[in-house]
Amino acid sequence: MPLSQSRPKFPATNALFPPTRDSALAKLEHFIPFAGEHYRLERNFDYGSGKHNSVSQLSPYIRNGTISESEVVASVLKSHPYHEAEKFLQEVFWRIYWKGYLDNRPALWTNYLEDLSELNLDASQAKTHQQARNGATGIDSFDTWSEELQQTGYLHNHARMWFASIWIFTLKLPWQLGAAFFLEHLLDGDPASNTLGWRWVAGLHTKGKSYLARPSNITRYTQGRFQPAGGLAAEAISIPDSHPAIPASYKKRPAPPQGLQQGEGLLMLDEDLRPHLEGLDEKSHILGMYPQNDYSQLPCSEPVRVFRETSLRNTLQDLSERKSCCVEVTTHPSSEAIETWAQKYGLHTLWLAQPQIGPWNDLWSEIEPRLAKSGLQILKFRPWWENELFPSATHGFFKFHKGIKPVATRMANATS
Ligand SMILES: Cc1cc2nc3c(=O)[nH]c(=O)nc-3n(C[C@H](O)[C@H](O)[C@H](O)COP(=O)(O)OP(=O)(O)OC[C@H]3O[C@@H](n4cnc5c(N)ncnc54)[C@H](O)[C@@H]3O)c2cc1C
Repeated sequence: MPLSQSRPKFPATNALFPPTRDSALAKLEHFIPFAGEHYRLERNFDYGSGKHNSVSQLSPYIRNGTISESEVVASVLKSHPYHEAEKFLQEVFWRIYWKGYLDNRPALWTNYLEDLSELNLDASQAKTHQQARNGATGIDSFDTWSEELQQTGYLHNHARMWFASIWIFTLKLPWQLGAAFFLEHLLDGDPASNTLGWRWVAGLHTKGKSYLARPSNITRYTQGRFQPAGGLAAEAISIPDSHPAIPASYKKRPAPPQGLQQGEGLLMLDEDLRPHLEGLDEKSHILGMYPQNDYSQLPCSEPVRVFRETSLRNTLQDLSERKSCCVEVTTHPSSEAIETWAQKYGLHTLWLAQPQIGPWNDLWSEIEPRLAKSGLQILKFRPWWENELFPSATHGFFKFHKGIKPVATRMANATS
């Protein structure tokens, strides 16, 4: 459907995260003065819903590509020397690490889905699960975070760690269900950071090293808002990993195109928006794809759905207005829809950001073989920093860590 027929704009999901690039850039600009020492000292404090000023709250925008990791790093390094902003930069690189780690071991994602579909809760677990989802476990802090997650689509990192730990070790619920609950409600819900974040808390990422939420730590970093004396698990039981270890493998991809040539088009996924892609102009044909029905087996809440779709539509609208690109959007991506669009504009080559391991990659794996039969050439690209860093996202963060500074410095000198 041509974009012009889809006006007026969708309503914003919530006031905290308007789904526009301007909002993302404004959030980034507001945060930059705090990205140095302030972040280093304050980032672990969770001051409560609507008061998360110790962190950037950029994750929904970074997750869907409204702003790129490179842009964030470059903006921060314009105002801070590397050593001053190192802690913040490291967190941005944790995201790239998790993404690369899952890309190297896609079976972790399929195993997770398989586990999820095979889970059988007994009556008592089913009741606890419902209470956890409803914020009715009686654990004050946990219930507050459950509510905040569902109301705002966001949780502070420390709250995510405490929440996941209580879910697994105190409530004794399967981590896979907790990860699915997060993906359902987080605006930044990300198959890599989320699945691997939950595995890390459960002690499955670094074997035998789990994360236990301690009452004193919660009290300290919530400044006494919660005092969960007693009631929380005092030790982290070992969680078995039912799947065999998976060796890592890496596939390099071409860099993004520097603009589109005659006969070339760009497929833009709602999870990887590219408003910052260089060289787009009035000759550029872009098909935005939002898979309304068949995203995956995983449910997502209405605010998450609206955030994703609206971010995509607003990005396309922006590209059409600012760069006069010829944009369309489909909410039912399929080989037929793509072929019809390509034929309409005489396109023979389609560029696409390599889908991230997760729901989009699952869907793309069904579309691509059918599309291949049509004779269209598909070129999948990756940003240069992923090509640079993913090969070392095979083991712990320590090995990966060595590559961060040179890449961050190069990001500071690059534009996209
Ligand atoms: C169990 C669990 C589940 C998580 N699920 C997700 C998820 O689905 N999506 C997601 O984006 N992050 C996830 N995280 C990571 C982290 O909690 C969020 O990225 C962060 O809280 C986002 O808030 P912020 O933008 O204010 O972060 P800031 O502290 O301001 O950090 C800046 C950016 O760095 C990245 N980042 C920061 N911390 C991490 C981290 N630990 N791992 C990966 N990237 C990080 C994010 O892109 C973030 O926007 C999860 C963490 C845990 C423990």
